[in-house]
Amino acid sequence: MKWVAATKNKGKLKEIRAMLEGTGITLVSMEEAGIDIDVEEDGTTFEENARKKATEIYRLTGLPCLADDSGLVVDALDGAPGVYSARYAGTGNSEDNNRKLLHEMEGKENRTARFVCVMVLILNEKEEMVARGECEGEITYAPSGDHGFGYDPLFYLPRLGKTMAEISDEEKNAISHRGNALRALGEMVRNM
Ligand code: IMP
Repeated sequence: MKWVAATKNKGKLKEIRAMLEGTGITLVSMEEAGIDIDVEEDGTTFEENARKKATEIYRLTGLPCLADDSGLVVDALDGAPGVYSARYAGTGNSEDNNRKLLHEMEGKENRTARFVCVMVLILNEKEEMVARGECEGEITYAPSGDHGFGYDPLFYLPRLGKTMAEISDEEKNAISHRGNALRALGEMVRNM
């Protein structure tokens, strides 16, 4: 069976392929499926955005399609930046986003936050699967670490005593929102 991944990110593709190992499913990229579109992420939830991407690409290819959407949810900011995580500062630049986040958090005592990832797999017109993964942490007062991407240098993991940017890719996969969503989806696929 062949599925399409609704992502242009090679790292994500690799992670999803690893999750599907042994299932007999071959995952192809959008490029390999012959499509090059940018789906507008204008939903109000991660699930809506992931479903929109998966549905559009399913309709274009006729193949089952898996899409994800993720972001940072900060309690003291009523869930912001949320679905706007990538474009929080308006420039699409991570350093600008991080600067804005620290600014918005000035004077806030409650620093609790979580990374969230939702994966939607559209199998056909009637069947879909939804998996959600979260990772709990706290927003720091200054960036620390140079691994990872996005908000990782500001995301402190109390259990590890480090930020997400101070741990290795392997350590991150074991606890991250994306890793958790992928593991949940993997289990659903194996029970399909
Ligand atoms: P996307 O779902 O891959 O488009 O991610 C949306 C945005 O959420 C990214 O541009 C980052 O700003 C943020 N984000 C998602 N996952 C992570 C992560 O693992 N670390 C840091 N930032 C993340």
